[in-house]
Amino acid sequence: MVKQVDHVVLDTLKEKLKEIFGYSQFRGDQEVIIQNILLGKNTFVIMPTGAGKSLCYQLPALVSDGLTIVISPLIALMKNQVDQLTAFGINAQFLNSTLTKAEMTRVKSDALDGSLKLLYIAPESLTKEDNLDFLKKVKISFVAIDEAHCISEWGHDFRPEYRRIYGIIENIGQLPIIALTATATPKVQQDIRKNLQMEEAETFKSSFNRKNLYYEIRPKKDVKKQLIRYIRNNKGKSGIVYCLSRKTVEEVAELLNVNDVRALPYHAGLDSNTRMSNQDAFLNEEADVIVATIAFGMGIDKPDVRFVIHYDVPKSLEGYYQETGRAGRDGLEGNCLMFYSYDDIQKLEKFNKDKTVTERDNARHLLNEMVAYSTLGVCRRRQLLSYFGEYLDKDCGFCDNCIKSTEKSKVQEDVVLVLKAVALTEQRFDCEHIADLLTATENQYVKSYEHDKLEVYGKGLELNESREYWISTIRQLVIFNYLEKDVENYGVIRLSTKGANYLNDPYQVTLHKDHNFEEEEVKPEDDDKETAAAGSAHAYDEALLGMLKALRKKVAKEKNLPPYVIFQDPSLEEMATTYPTTQQEMAQINGVGMGKVQKFGRQFIDLITRYVEENEIETAKDVVIKSTVNKSKIKIFIIQQVDRKVSLDEIAEVKDLELADVIEEVEHICYSGTKLNLDYYINQVIDRERQQDIYDYFMTAETDNIAVALDEFSNDEISEEELRLMRIKFLSELAN
Ligand code: ADP
Ligand code: ZN
Repeated sequence: MVKQVDHVVLDTLKEKLKEIFGYSQFRGDQEVIIQNILLGKNTFVIMPTGAGKSLCYQLPALVSDGLTIVISPLIALMKNQVDQLTAFGINAQFLNSTLTKAEMTRVKSDALDGSLKLLYIAPESLTKEDNLDFLKKVKISFVAIDEAHCISEWGHDFRPEYRRIYGIIENIGQLPIIALTATATPKVQQDIRKNLQMEEAETFKSSFNRKNLYYEIRPKKDVKKQLIRYIRNNKGKSGIVYCLSRKTVEEVAELLNVNDVRALPYHAGLDSNTRMSNQDAFLNEEADVIVATIAFGMGIDKPDVRFVIHYDVPKSLEGYYQETGRAGRDGLEGNCLMFYSYDDIQKLEKFNKDKTVTERDNARHLLNEMVAYSTLGVCRRRQLLSYFGEYLDKDCGFCDNCIKSTEKSKVQEDVVLVLKAVALTEQRFDCEHIADLLTATENQYVKSYEHDKLEVYGKGLELNESREYWISTIRQLVIFNYLEKDVENYGVIRLSTKGANYLNDPYQVTLHKDHNFEEEEVKPEDDDKETAAAGSAHAYDEALLGMLKALRKKVAKEKNLPPYVIFQDPSLEEMATTYPTTQQEMAQINGVGMGKVQKFGRQFIDLITRYVEENEIETAKDVVIKSTVNKSKIKIFIIQQVDRKVSLDEIAEVKDLELADVIEEVEHICYSGTKLNLDYYINQVIDRERQQDIYDYFMTAETDNIAVALDEFSNDEISEEELRLMRIKFLSELAN
């Protein structure tokens, strides 16, 4: 076991990251996680899908002496991971029942002679006597347990064999363990720690915010038409459509096919060959869309899924989050659209009627959360994160509620009333009870606890507001962190510190009006986000990107691998931005390590070289010679991050710059003719009215000089940054 990490090893982690995986930076906590496991300490990693968990055990496996065992629940997933690692030039294998005797022998001899670095294995195979005997003979660096939530019955995918893992590892030797999961609930986390006897393990939990995902809910009216239109607008992109029943899956797949969409069905009623071949067709880009029940998804880590559509309302927000999480794992575009109707909720309620009372109660709570999420007018991301126990202090600017801006009002008296009611009832009741109390609604507990004697009783009616209004208000106050959910008692709401302070010193709070999907119209041009996105030309060369993608598909087919195993979309986009024409330049591309350059680089370099010559393109190198290296690198970085809707503050932080510097770079980029769409960021930092005022000013002003503008707005406390941002928006929109 590694007790002390060689400093040389720590220093070279970053080099290895670049050399092998082609990434120039660690994401989030990756580096500290890797250091922790290299120090031989048990490590617990909780990160949302797409955050980059695999690298947390793959990289240390490569720099450690000996073999790393990776325990993973699905055979399909193992093959996929092994394919990807092999493409990087890494010796990784799996051990499971699909191997022939000869293959098995090879895996074992590679493990024994030390050339094998990672061995994927399912818990079932781990328990087999001869596998165990063999593993005892091999030098093992550490054990990674992927999808560790399978240990817990409270998780969404319990596997009894997972509970036996610890005993087996103990049997093999004293080995450090790294457990990884994307499930955030405290209950599951506790189970995992207990079962793996690693209560002391350092935990690395990252934010569950998936910044590149766009969340949207539309009324479920004319849903077939809407669906077809949406998918047509996203032609050629990979997507998943989730439906509740097998029958709907079949119908929708059929509907898409007759409308020229290459779609295939997937549900547990299909025989396993069909399921497998439909899944492969999706991974290999022979089908664009998979229409599926929730049976589809676990183990699908296709990084370039561009949209996930919920044709029917899902049963819980956990499920919704899990399923939408499959979009945009590579950090690029990911659209999450759900069609909502109250009919769906009622249907789901009917399914529950044969369940036991507790099960039914639970299912109803989950559904209520789903209804609240759908109908509230508050930023979707704030809602989702609040549900998973994270607080976001401002709107995201990148969801339908932020972009379409629901009706709002400023209130103070109402907020005071709700918080008072929670305090007066000793913080022991749920949202419905408080609403009943405020509206003097008949409810046995109101009487039995003598809440009808409280000063707040019926006060909500006096303010002329309905029970629904109060429920919505209470839920919003939870999201804004004036109230918080009691972790021990499901549904109970308490006053937060912020809420308690508020009562001492109240002020106006902006509340949103709920959606009324029955009344909301579906407008054919109702694609705000798409129109918003269409305004920004991409930084990359679209023609070249198309050619690179075609080549990738051809190579993938020859090698019988999914295209994303060759190069992922972000790498191709970067190639179509910087035009690498040598092996060294190719190795500079994010996601392209030396292994990939040698394996697949040649054909791509040839294609780019030909393209550059034929089109007489001035490449990044030429630019680099003219300006300084760093400058053009920073510009490309900014363009890519803006494409990904990363906030400018964050870009500044990552690159260790001031916000003003980043804005200045953006100005240069825009002045040199590249359009950037900053709306997502501007909407987040400048309120609408202010935006309009500044925009109008530039419309009529004689000059776009910032000093002059600052002077003009000297009474309005508008900052130079705000003016600069709006000027960029103005120029980008009006300059062709
Ligand atoms: P998870 O297992 O957490 O869902 P993955 O390990 O599949 O996530 O990684 C998601 C994506 O992020 C992959 O496309 C991977 O190549 C990419 N990735 C991982 N680490 C980095 C990094 N340091 N820089 C850039 N991309 C990364
Ligand atoms: Zn939002």
